[in-house]
Amino acid sequence: MIDLRSDTVTKPSEEMRRAMAEAPVGDDVYGEDPTVNRLEEYVADLIGKEAAIYGPSGTMTNQIGVHLGTRRGEEILLHEQSHIFNYEAGAPALLSGVQSRPLLGDGGLISPDTLRAAVGPENDHFAPPTLLCLENTHNAAGGAVYPLDDFAEVAAEARGLGLGVHLDGARLFNAAVAAGIEAREWCEHVDTVSVCSSKGLGAPVGSLLAGDEATIRRARRVRKAFGGGMRQAGTIAAASLFAFEKNVERLEEDHDLARLLAEGFLEAGYEVEAPETNLVLVKADDENALLEALAKEGVLAGHGRKGYVRFVTHLDVASEDIEKVVEAASRVFASV
Ligand SMILES: *Cc1c(COP(=O)(O)O)cnc(C)c1O
Repeated sequence: MIDLRSDTVTKPSEEMRRAMAEAPVGDDVYGEDPTVNRLEEYVADLIGKEAAIYGPSGTMTNQIGVHLGTRRGEEILLHEQSHIFNYEAGAPALLSGVQSRPLLGDGGLISPDTLRAAVGPENDHFAPPTLLCLENTHNAAGGAVYPLDDFAEVAAEARGLGLGVHLDGARLFNAAVAAGIEAREWCEHVDTVSVCSSKGLGAPVGSLLAGDEATIRRARRVRKAFGGGMRQAGTIAAASLFAFEKNVERLEEDHDLARLLAEGFLEAGYEVEAPETNLVLVKADDENALLEALAKEGVLAGHGRKGYVRFVTHLDVASEDIEKVVEAASRVFASV
């Protein structure tokens, strides 16, 4: 099977497993795990924030960000296709008691005008909007990079309106590598940012939330309350550290393979969105029929946004695999 369902399906390499086995550990709830501490410092430095906190999933680190940026009864604003709105099990309402206001925008972007229009005047009828959540790269938009100028503009608009800004940067390093811009350039415009080591960077588990010292100090209590306080977490944090140190630059290879895959699908007759990073969206009248036909050919893909099948390139995919996928796609084209 060639598994292109997600970049989360990668298995830790021998070298990564060795780093895990050899990692010094301690009790991280006491702040005594040297490997977790090193990882948190490394990632904070990498993205230009004062501090970072390690958590078990991107959902949790996003939700800690949401919790820290709001109070019960307030409102968060986010793209209608965003991960936080669609794929985090209703957590903003469940864990933080906030209402989510979905906003429209092409390619996962939110324009300053759209944001301004969504923030009403102060009025007792309204839930006070307090946090804007942005996403880069944008998953449902096919791994689209949030252009830095647009990002800075909408973040500045949010500040002018009195809102905080959180960035869901699950694939922020894909954006950085694709655009040739340091990840910190986006992070400079936000209060909190969540980044994942378990996506394209290839770690088996782990995400981090970064922000200023005071915010991350508060985050430790929230993480505990959400059930994310882990003990000798250095065993897994070592994999994340390895991923951030060794696997950022090579994301370019995933992007190259995604382009190759998209070209192959185009030649085979499919309608394809040109990929900016490692996600390829292929149009399908019947997504399940295409997925089933490909699975019979030994190729696994997943659902993209409605009407699209999603293929994701990653660390465990080689260019020979891409050729095989394209051949399989050509064979099934007539049948779907
Ligand atoms: C994967 C992902 C997350 C976090 O997912 P977890 O599975 O909880 O780690 C958050 N945002 C985006 C855009 C994602 O793709």
